[in-house]
Amino acid sequence: MNVPKIKGSHTAMKTGMLAAEAAFEALTADEVPAKMDSYPQRLKDSWVYPELHKVRNIRPSFAKWGFWGGMAYSAVDTYLFGGKAPWTFKNHADHACLKPASEMPKIDYPKPDGKISFDKLSSVFLSNTNHSEDQPIHLTLKDASVPVSTNLAVYDGPEARFCPAGVYEFVEDEDNGGKRLQINAQNCVHCKTCDIKDPTQNIVWVVPEGGGGPNYPNM
Ligand code: SF4
Repeated sequence: MNVPKIKGSHTAMKTGMLAAEAAFEALTADEVPAKMDSYPQRLKDSWVYPELHKVRNIRPSFAKWGFWGGMAYSAVDTYLFGGKAPWTFKNHADHACLKPASEMPKIDYPKPDGKISFDKLSSVFLSNTNHSEDQPIHLTLKDASVPVSTNLAVYDGPEARFCPAGVYEFVEDEDNGGKRLQINAQNCVHCKTCDIKDPTQNIVWVVPEGGGGPNYPNM
């Protein structure tokens, strides 16, 4: 039987293996703290690097010119230049691309119907997410005032929406008569969206204690 070659997954597997090799090398060296400095070079020396280098401009071209412009550019870059165009478009950090809520239309999301769409906490329950209660907290804030003073005031509190597990909640702050951000770290499914998307980069995400997190027992 012919098994189709899935290129993306081969690339992901290879980068994972290179990271594992670099981690092994770092952990078996005497240096403390262990550093995975060899990973970038291992990646450059592998077949993954030239493959990814050839398509480096594709995704940024869609961000730059939209769907049709990106399609047209990608055709030129691929078929005319063969991925060897003498320029490289810049990627922008995701958190830097968020626009103030006042500049954007308000989206009225339909409520989950319980048949094909479900509320966040039901899905977290299905993932069997758990963290032991006495482990060090893995989600903290650099400045506890920023979520209300900036994220809520300017961006309408995106962390309450982009987190798929409902970890971030703006709740009434009875002591100060306003709102405060409550972090339900116990529910975190370790997707790392908040680390990437927080517009103020105020959330500090550290690796949770081993064994915690989602288990997906039905998969
Ligand atoms: S890592 Fe994902 S699930 Fe966890 S708090 Fe951040 S956004 Fe939510």
